[in-house]
Amino acid sequence: MNKDTPNNLYPVTCGVCGESQNTMNGGFGTDGLPAQDVNCMVCGHTFGREKYLSGLEVRRQEFARLSGPGET
Ligand SMILES: [Zn+2]
Repeated sequence: MNKDTPNNLYPVTCGVCGESQNTMNGGFGTDGLPAQDVNCMVCGHTFGREKYLSGLEVRRQEFARLSGPGET
């Protein structure tokens, strides 16, 4: 099991405390995504895998905008 955070993942903001520090309980699957539920490191709120993935997509779009194409 791979315990290293794949560099295509971003921390997802917790809906409870607003912090963006995640704990991956089960490491990562072969697809590079969390294998099990994701917890907030600060308040312990459980995101659940689906919630994490939807939050991750939002974060990806935010990062893509920050370093958007055609901008220097
Ligand atoms: Zn939290």
